Amino acid sequence: MSVNLTKPELLREQGFINGQWVPARSGQTFAVVNPANGERLANVPDMGGDDTRQAIDAAATAWPAWCSTVAKERANILRKWFNLVMAHQEDLARLMTAEQGKPLTESRGEVAYGASFIEWFAEEAKRAYGDVIPGHGRDKRIIVIKQPIGVVAAITPWNFPIAMITRKVAPALAAGCPVVVKPAEDTPLSALAITFLAEQAGVPAGLINIITASKGHAAEVGGELTANPVVRKVSFTGSTPVGKLLMRQASDTVKKVSLELGGNAPFIVFDDADLDAAVTGLMASKYRNTGQTCVCANRVYVQSGVYDAFVEKLKAAVSRLVVGAGLDVEAQQGPLINRAALEKVQRHIEDATSRGASIALGGKHHELGGTFFEPTILTDVTQDMLVAREETFGPVAPLFRFETEDEVIAMANDSEFGLAAYFYSNNIKRIWYVAEALESGMVGINEGIISTEAAPFGGVKESGLGREGSHYGLDEFIELKYLCLGGM
Ligand code: ADP
Repeated sequence: MSVNLTKPELLREQGFINGQWVPARSGQTFAVVNPANGERLANVPDMGGDDTRQAIDAAATAWPAWCSTVAKERANILRKWFNLVMAHQEDLARLMTAEQGKPLTESRGEVAYGASFIEWFAEEAKRAYGDVIPGHGRDKRIIVIKQPIGVVAAITPWNFPIAMITRKVAPALAAGCPVVVKPAEDTPLSALAITFLAEQAGVPAGLINIITASKGHAAEVGGELTANPVVRKVSFTGSTPVGKLLMRQASDTVKKVSLELGGNAPFIVFDDADLDAAVTGLMASKYRNTGQTCVCANRVYVQSGVYDAFVEKLKAAVSRLVVGAGLDVEAQQGPLINRAALEKVQRHIEDATSRGASIALGGKHHELGGTFFEPTILTDVTQDMLVAREETFGPVAPLFRFETEDEVIAMANDSEFGLAAYFYSNNIKRIWYVAEALESGMVGINEGIISTEAAPFGGVKESGLGREGSHYGLDEFIELKYLCLGGM
């Protein structure tokens, strides 16, 4: 194993069901590799439908006792978990960089960000307030109470191997629900490591179950999680096609569904913007995690009066980015997650240049080889190109030119997605108008980084359903129950 950990037990090569570290029933395993060099890091169980059913049953069995704890007991356990995650921040970051590729500084940041959801929901656990509503008759009183929904299934992606799990598991546990998690096949080690810490924090057996599965078994595991009537809630973060499939599957048993799906974030720079601030914001929004986040700027619209100046400033900033293996502390941009990701980036650039775009910087496979790609800027990009329609999920900033406010709002909204949007302007009237007109769940205004546990994360249109984080995030794992008291 080529990751040095101060606590080697954090590297787990088994799944976790009912408080036990277990192999797949079939005995099969699959390899987890370092995307920076292709090296095998571990073999984890390749679980299937039987393992998943067993985990669901364990969760259902654990539920009543957990459900009947008082919020403060749940909060105390979550707080211990938070403390343990933060105490092992460095090891967890190294493990994450090894399996995911992001630079160590970003992994450290993600461990803290992921932990923040545990801390936040430890506190929110105590605030699942109900309501008393004036009765509809003299002898009647209306009370609304909040109760945990039941067994939760969480299916998560590889781009944030810890945060996408804690953003679901922490509120579920806080609300009083057990969870069965299927982490992404590329990054199961981070999931298993934080689960090991959850066990140490005293999370009772059966409340967190981890089903590791290869790409080939994802549909089988997902099929069981969505078909099994015991599961009452499916929370998914990943691609739009898989989200749609899971929603269709979950409809047969009418499960509550939360979906955080693809984005196609517009990033608009108006003539009246602070251009240096806009460049700083775009660098963070576009190139972080090698462009592999669903809130990454995907389409950069620059008003014509500042277009050329913006291109020059952006080129200067992007050309300073250091590309390298994440475990090298100097690196600011790591490799792409896998070959398919690299091919998508190449396809988008080829399509854009064949339709008239120019490469202002980068544009090629990086000399480091593997899945490393040069940070890229495309100019003269238009709405008919693939980069305008699909999420590139790579380090490519396509720059479009626009003339008027209404024109750019129409261009920004011309997408089936609506997750994040960003714009830079110093005109307060414009700020309100544009913020309200953009069809997206989140808007960064003079700001390129918007994710925080304190705010509701989520999208509109085909970007998803529901919100994660913030006090709204708890509601996703709660049912309202109306009590009508008569004869008062
Ligand atoms: P990406 O393209 O980013 O890998 P996916 O939507 O394919 O996005 O993956 C997100 C998560 O969904 C991963 O955990 C993956 O294994 C899982 N997944 C993929 N296909 C299915 C499926 N048919 N059923 C359930 N989960 C799936």
